Amino acid sequence: MTDTSKTVLSIAGLRKSFGANEVLRGIDLAASDGDVISMIGASGSGKSTLLRCIPMLEIPDAGTVGVGEDRVSPRGGRLTRAEEATVRRMRCQLGFVFQNFNLWPHRTVLENVIEAPLFVQGRARSEAVDEAMALLDKVGLAAKRDAYPAHLSGGQQQRVAIARALAQHPRAILFDEPTSALDPELVGEVLKVIRSLAEEGRTMLIVTHEMGFAREVSSRVVFLHQGHIEEDGTPAEVFGAPKSERARAFLASHF
Ligand code: ADP
Ligand code: MG
Repeated sequence: MTDTSKTVLSIAGLRKSFGANEVLRGIDLAASDGDVISMIGASGSGKSTLLRCIPMLEIPDAGTVGVGEDRVSPRGGRLTRAEEATVRRMRCQLGFVFQNFNLWPHRTVLENVIEAPLFVQGRARSEAVDEAMALLDKVGLAAKRDAYPAHLSGGQQQRVAIARALAQHPRAILFDEPTSALDPELVGEVLKVIRSLAEEGRTMLIVTHEMGFAREVSSRVVFLHQGHIEEDGTPAEVFGAPKSERARAFLASHF
């Protein structure tokens, strides 16, 4: 039997509390190869926590997270030794792009991009450099290879962060509000790069407040409200005809 819609990322029954604050209340979400899922929702609804639970940067209290063939179901907010090994494999298959770029400040652009290929994946330096240069070219920053992050604009730093994520050959890329920290005039250059990745068929989960962008590039849109997925559908469904009152109110305040 041929598998036409290969599941890259799967989340089932995910729960996470911080003390008495129940932040994720049973999340089910799966991404197939090539899916671009935008996640929208008010501040505090649990979007970042959900994203952070995928690579177990936050360890969920219950539920299962799967990446490719690997999956873990941690219990009680901790990982066993065996689960830790699985999580390391899962992380290697994911790329992350955060709001604040998180580049190494004392390393050049090129060094930032080759770091994981060299030291995590153990690839040969010349091969890592060649590929990093191709990726920097793709995000329009080959000429900045020897610059330090502090000498780049926020938009350029974020494009380096995207090149760095791609250098790991991820099966899926997770973005947490990749343009929220940028001056408005720099948002477009970063969205353009993410759009080009969508056109290449990359699997991505993108937390964003850029509704026009989400509508245009996503195969699916998920609306999170107080730790529940309240809407999950095509952009036309979620933006055009939201079922829940809360989604209607949220969208009304964002257009
Ligand atoms: P969003 O990204 O949708 O704005 P978050 O996932 O950042 O939402 O936060 C959801 C809730 O979880 C908020 O009430 C926030 O204060 C709380 N929270 C997030 N991370 C932590 C943490 N590490 N410790 C305690 N509370 C947290
Ligand atoms: Mg957040």
